[in-house]
Amino acid sequence: MQLEEMYEGLGISRKVLDFGNEVESSLKERFEEIDQNAEYNQLKVIAAMQKNRVSDIHFAGTTGYGYNDLGRETLEQVYADIFHTEDALVRPQITCGTHALYTALAGNLRPGDELLSPVGKPYDTLEEVIGIRPSNGSLKEYGITYRQVDLLPDGSFDFDGIRAAIGEKTKLVTIQRSKGYATRPTLSVKRIGELIAFVKGIKPDLICMVDNCYGEFVERIEPSDVGADMVVGSLIKNPGGGLAPIGGYIAGTRECIEKAAYRLGSPGLGREVGASLGVNQSLFQGLFLAPTVVAGALKGAIFAANIYEKLGFPVVPNGTESRHDIIQAVTFGKPEGVIAFCQGIQAAAPVDSYVTPEPWDMPGYDSPVIMAAGAFIQGSSIELSADGPIKPPYSVFFQGGLTWYHAKLGILMSLQKLTEAGIVEK
Ligand SMILES: *Cc1c(COP(=O)(O)O)cnc(C)c1O
Repeated sequence: MQLEEMYEGLGISRKVLDFGNEVESSLKERFEEIDQNAEYNQLKVIAAMQKNRVSDIHFAGTTGYGYNDLGRETLEQVYADIFHTEDALVRPQITCGTHALYTALAGNLRPGDELLSPVGKPYDTLEEVIGIRPSNGSLKEYGITYRQVDLLPDGSFDFDGIRAAIGEKTKLVTIQRSKGYATRPTLSVKRIGELIAFVKGIKPDLICMVDNCYGEFVERIEPSDVGADMVVGSLIKNPGGGLAPIGGYIAGTRECIEKAAYRLGSPGLGREVGASLGVNQSLFQGLFLAPTVVAGALKGAIFAANIYEKLGFPVVPNGTESRHDIIQAVTFGKPEGVIAFCQGIQAAAPVDSYVTPEPWDMPGYDSPVIMAAGAFIQGSSIELSADGPIKPPYSVFFQGGLTWYHAKLGILMSLQKLTEAGIVEK
C-alpha cells in the first residue's frame, strides 16, 4: 500500500494530505535547526548520565520509607547536572506540575512574605495555589500576599511597574516561561535572564523561580543557566520523555531545594524519605529520550502553526517565529472550531481513538475545558494532546507528540474534522 492510501485508511482525505505535505516541504530548514538542538541536548543528557555513572542498580525500586534510594539520588544528581544547578528534587511523590510549583513556593515562602509575578497572570491552576481565586489551603490563607505586574500590550516587560512592585516584603519572583492558556508570547530563556537580572538588580536576595513547564530542551540553555534559583516542571511533560508515569522536578540552589523538600515531605524528614517504588528506570529512560521527543513535538507545533496560519486563523506563535516552548495556540473564534480540532486530535490517537471528547468543568479551571488526549499516560501532555477552554476568544492549545509522524497525523486529522464540520473550506 502507498503512503497516501495509509492516510486515506485512517480517514485523511487526499486534499488535506496534499495541503499538509505542501506545508511540510516548506519547513525543511526549520526542522533541521530543531534536529541540531536535539542533538546538542541529547549529548547534554548523556554526559550527565555518564558523569554520574548511571548503572542498572539505579533502576531498582525501594519501598516503605525509601531510605538510601540510590536510583532516586542519582537521578536527582543527573537533573542537577543537566540544569547546571546545585541540587534537584525529582520524585514520583510530586504528583504533577502544579504540585511541584506549589511545593517550591510553599517551601520557600513564609507568612508575611510577598510573591510577585512580573509576567502577568500565572497558569490557571496556580490561581488557587496562590489564592487569586479563594481556595482551601492557598498561600493566601497562610498569610502570603501576591502581586502581579502585567506584560505591556506589546508583550514586553513593564520594568517601571516591576520596580514599583518590589518592596520590603517581596521574597520570591515567579516567572512563567510558557504562555499557558494565554495568548501572550512565550518567554525565551534570554528574556527570562534579562528579567532576572533586572529584579536582582533591585533586590539581590530575591528568589527567582521559573515555571519551566513545556520549555525543557526546546533551547540549548535553560532558565537555570541565566540566574534562576529554581526551575520547576512536570515529568508528564517534556523531561519525562513520554515514559515517566508520574512525577515532577525542582532543580535549583541547595537552600531552595532543601526548603522545598521539607515541604514535600515533612519538617525533619525532608528528602530522606520517599520510596521510588518501580519508576526509576522510566524516569531515567524518559529523560534520555526527552530531547528527541521534544524535537518531534516542536515540529508538530510549527507544522500546525503554518497549516492554520495559511487557512487564515490567528496562531501564536506564528508560522515563522522562534520557539521557546512546545505549545501552539490557534484561535478559532467559536466553540465549534475548538471542539472539532480537539476531536480530530483524539481521533488520531493510538489509545482511545474511538471516544469523542466533550467540554467539561475540570477541577482547577474557571470555565469548561475540552481535552483531547489518547495517551498512554493519563493526562500526559508531552503526548499528542489539545485542550481548549470554552471561553472567548475560543483558542485551542495544542502540544506534544511522542513522534513527529504522530503529530503530523493528528494535525491533519484536526484539519479533516474542521473541514467535515464546514468550519474550513478546502
Ligand atoms: C501544565 C502546566 C502547569 C501545571 O502542571 P500540571 O501537571 O497540569 O499540574 C503549570 N504551569 C504551566 C505553564 C503549565 O504548562
